[in-house]
Parts: sequence; structure tokens; C-alpha cells
Amino acid sequence: MMSLRLPSIDGLLRHPACVPLLERHGREWLLASLRQLLDELRPSVLNGQLSAVEISPEVLAGRVGERLAQQQRSNVRRVFNLTGTVLHTNLGRALLPDEAIDAVQMAARYPLNLEFDLASGKRGDRDDLIEGLIRELTGAEAVTVVNNNAAAVLLTLNSLGARKEGIISRGELIEIGGAFRIPDIMARAGVRLHEVGTTNRTHARDYEAAISPRSGLIMRVHASNYSLEGFTARVPTAELADLAHRHGLPLLEDLGSGSLLDLTRWGLPAEPTVRQALLDGADIVTFSGDKLLGGPQAGLIVGRKELIAKIKKNPLKRALRVDKLTLAALEAVLGLYRDPDRLAERLPSLRLLTRPQADIFIQASRLQPALAEVLGSLWQVSAVDALGMIGSGSQPVARLPSAALCIRPQVSKRLRGRFLLNLEAALRALPIPVLGRIDDDALWLDLRQLDDEPAWLAQLPQLQVEP
Ligand SMILES: *Cc1c(COP(=O)(O)O)cnc(C)c1O
Repeated sequence: MMSLRLPSIDGLLRHPACVPLLERHGREWLLASLRQLLDELRPSVLNGQLSAVEISPEVLAGRVGERLAQQQRSNVRRVFNLTGTVLHTNLGRALLPDEAIDAVQMAARYPLNLEFDLASGKRGDRDDLIEGLIRELTGAEAVTVVNNNAAAVLLTLNSLGARKEGIISRGELIEIGGAFRIPDIMARAGVRLHEVGTTNRTHARDYEAAISPRSGLIMRVHASNYSLEGFTARVPTAELADLAHRHGLPLLEDLGSGSLLDLTRWGLPAEPTVRQALLDGADIVTFSGDKLLGGPQAGLIVGRKELIAKIKKNPLKRALRVDKLTLAALEAVLGLYRDPDRLAERLPSLRLLTRPQADIFIQASRLQPALAEVLGSLWQVSAVDALGMIGSGSQPVARLPSAALCIRPQVSKRLRGRFLLNLEAALRALPIPVLGRIDDDALWLDLRQLDDEPAWLAQLPQLQVEP
């Protein structure tokens, strides 16, 4: 038997099957991939385990082409978030409106007046670009913006309370997730924690008794991601602010989601608004840009002018500042808040949060047959009512009535777990990965956030579930 030989690298590079790859990926990368593949195949060729076809230039070019395409695929991938959690921290939280996307494009493409005052021709401050709008929307005297709300809390605590005591209720010493814990942040900010009250009940007299010449500030944290119910007591912000001011201390309120408008007007659960916290007397309020506000990742710090000035002078501000793309997006999103009547149409997160359940159910019924057909007889697919949530620590107990495609494996109980994990993996392997959630022996695809139905349907035939 004649022994086969692998084609030469030079021959392969010149072969017509490789020409398109050369154009697409460039010589260097193609060469490295070809060398690697040939090195991997050489032992099998020597052992006579491969046929002539398997080492033909066409087949080798095809294999290298697949590898290169795989490597070239971006790591940042679009997905379908059908988990039922709208503002999903692991899936990028709020989606930006077109107005913000246009603004980001402009800011990315051209030079801009990021820190340049066009009226005077002098150096400007990047916060000036959004200060007017935020003051108008919140009633705050002054504003500064940093990278996220965790940074906002850190910077505020460090600016106003370093080497002094921060007084906070034991019921508000929370962990937000991703290792953000209020006691740790306080320590890192150089503020000595002075906890008062108990987990479930804290009274004005508890705060009062803690105040001493060592005190630097009183802090209040919106217990966003957990709920305290039953025998509880909490001092209203207005009363706490009075108490703080009587002793010459600032009151900081970390609102977390920080809604700019009363969400109940859209039938959503009530969240404290930034304006109300300021009206109640909080001196500084911090909140996220990409939670209920529906904008880019950012941390907004608003409140009294002299305190904001102090915060802006902290060298940490420079380390935590936002970039031009964030500011461009934030300004565009805030602009939409000037017209609350149309906000729910124009701001994607609010549009998704307020999508009527009946709409979602109709969509589920419409898509059910296509999914059932692709999955075949081992699976039962039904359109059902479901309960989603806002996410990002907003209203952890509140549920959003929604609808889902509920997929149940029609196999013995023993096999169900494995079937569901395989289905989950197959959905993740689609060109635009589909993410749902497993619960109660079924996989649920909550359709509240399925905007792009054609793209979802188009890739369904590629779904391949391992048995
Ligand atoms: C989410 C949250 C934070 C952290 O905000 P990020 O923008 O995610 O950094 C801080 N405090 C509270 C109360 C929160 O809910």
C-alpha cells in the first residue's frame, strides 16, 4: 500500500480552496492555523488512519476555515434574555433607546466637547454636560456622575465621612451581590461603621444615642434586594434628615435603583423616587444609571451643592469618572424623561416592564407550534402564564405577570433532569443563544423580552438537543 502524504503548506496556501480564507483572515493567521492542523494530523497520516479525501486540500481548507471562523467570532455576544428577569445584571441590565445609541455613535465617531465649554472657549467639566438635565428631573442643587452606583457610594462615603463614624441601621447593612457589602464598602472608604438598632427595628432614639463628636454622617440604604416584613420599624427619611441636621450631620441615601418618576403610573410597584428622597431632606442621594432609570451603567450622585463640590474635589473622583460614551447615552436617556407620557414607548426597559400580560400570552400561543414541531414528540410545549421580575434588586418580592413557553420532557422522572440540562445547552448553542430558566421539572422561556421574533424563529431549525 502506498503511504499518503500531507500536502505542503506552500501548496495549500496557493490552492484555490484557501484563496478566500487568505482574503478574509490574512496570511499570517491562515498560515498558523494550517500549520497547526497539519501537525495534529501527521501522526494519523503516518499510521495510515486517514484516507486521501480526508487530507485533500479542499477538506483541509474547510476545516481550517471553520476554526478561523470560530476564533474570529466575538466573545461579546447578543443573547435572548427569556429568563423572566428584565434588568438582569449578568445579561447587561437596561437596553438603550435609539436616541442613546445614536448619541453613542456620534460620541464614538467624532471629537466632542467632553471637557470644553463652547461658550467661553475655556476648559469645561464633563459633569456640566448632564447637570442641568438631572437637576431639572430630580430637583437637586448639584450633580456628579461616576462609573456605577457602587462607585458612587464609595466616593460619597470617602469624601464626606473618612476617619469619622458612619451611622447606619443594622437592618440596612446589606449585600447587593457581586461582593458589594455596605460594611466592607464603608471600611474601604475609611469610614468607621457605627451600627444602630436591630435587624428588624431601628428607632430615631437609636440614631440619636449614637451621635457623638466622632460622627461624620448618617447613612440610609434602600434595602433593594430583600424585603423586611412583619414586626419592623424604620425611621422615615424626613424624620431622619431632621435629626441629622439638628446635629450638623449630612444624611446620605443610597437608593439603588433610584426611579426618577413614580412607577405606579404605569402599574408597576412603587419605588422611592430621587426627587422625593431629596424633598424629604436627604443631603446626598446615589443611584444606578442602568437599573430602573433605563440608561447606561453609571452611578449618579445628586444633592446639596457644597457636598457635591467636596465630592468632586476628591482625587478618587478622577479614578471613577465616566467616559464620553456613557455621558452621551445618559444625556439622551434623561432627555426622554422630559416627556413622561411617551416614556413607556420610547425607553426599552420601561416598555418591556409594562408589556401587558395578554400581549405576551398571545405571542406565546403564536410561537408554541413552531417550537413543538422542532422539538418533536419527546417534549411537551405549552403556552402558559408565568411570573417574572424586575431584577437588579428592584422590588425582589414583586412579580410581573407574564407568559412563557413551558417545555416539559416526556420521559421518566429519572431522566428529566438530564434532558432539561441538554435542552438548556442546545438553546445556548444557537447562533443567538436563548436563555431561559429551569423550574419545576420544566424549562421556561418567558417571552416578555422577546422583541425580535423573526430572528428567534429563524434559528429554531438549528436547535439540536442531545438525547
Ligand atoms: C444595585 C445597588 C448598588 C450597586 O449599584 P451598581 O450600579 O450595580 O454598582 C448599590 N446600592 C444599592 C442599594 C443597590 O440596589
